[in-house]
Amino acid sequence: MVKQEKFHREICQELGNHLKNVATTEIMPAMATWLAKYEPKTAPKKPTLVFTTSFGLEDQVLTDMIVKQPGLAVQFVTLDTGRLFPETYELWQRTTSRYGITITSHHPNADALGDYVRRRGINGFYEDVAARHECCAIRKTVPLTAALAGADIWLTGIRRDQSTARQEIPLVSHDPTHNVVKLNPILGWTRAQAVAYAEQHKVPLNPLHLAGYLSIGCAPCTRAVQPGESERDGRWWWENEAAKECGLHVMPDGRRVRRKDLQATPGGNP
Ligand code: SF4
Repeated sequence: MVKQEKFHREICQELGNHLKNVATTEIMPAMATWLAKYEPKTAPKKPTLVFTTSFGLEDQVLTDMIVKQPGLAVQFVTLDTGRLFPETYELWQRTTSRYGITITSHHPNADALGDYVRRRGINGFYEDVAARHECCAIRKTVPLTAALAGADIWLTGIRRDQSTARQEIPLVSHDPTHNVVKLNPILGWTRAQAVAYAEQHKVPLNPLHLAGYLSIGCAPCTRAVQPGESERDGRWWWENEAAKECGLHVMPDGRRVRRKDLQATPGGNP
């Protein structure tokens, strides 16, 4: 693990330097160039790239960018919580058909989930915050760890203008929880830029976005928002703000990113 961390810190520094001042639309070409030339000093291999998609707007845009970049090998993975919207599963199928890619799905551990449902009920997450966190841990956080097990570079669809706190997030950083290099290629884009890209390139999107579901996660925990509401108002709406933590994203200094940091974008990360 120590050796791997040295490798990841080496990648983090070199990639950070390479992508400095690179425009968003040029990041994928720059990645391909960097990977082709990169000779690791502390590991006998080139880095493995893994992109976790939840089929939101940004993830769909990033999928389009990755697929259209020749010579860039990226593994597509998703977390199938078992509680996604039918529209999300339909988009998943449409995305693999449209781009000819394979998306590996990671699922909750059956024993852990069975135990949870026995103890808390199938919709027990509505009852208290601890039950909700436990459900998210079983259905999302633990599978994410499995999804990133072989990753050296983790690509995400995070954008900087999603919240004030995200102003601090760098384009490239070392994720201390999963010991990977985290790369957010469309970090510098506004929501409008992501929408414009999707329209220009006819990127397949979840129809629920048009029905007011700005951030789409699990069906029982997502509702449409009204004009003037922020995206997070549609997620775990029955909880108070302090409880809305996200277990998937961690700041480079190890702080946990709160749910309130993940607001205001259609199709934001889960
Ligand atoms: S979002 Fe809801 S259904 Fe999905 S894992 Fe979390 S608590 Fe469970």
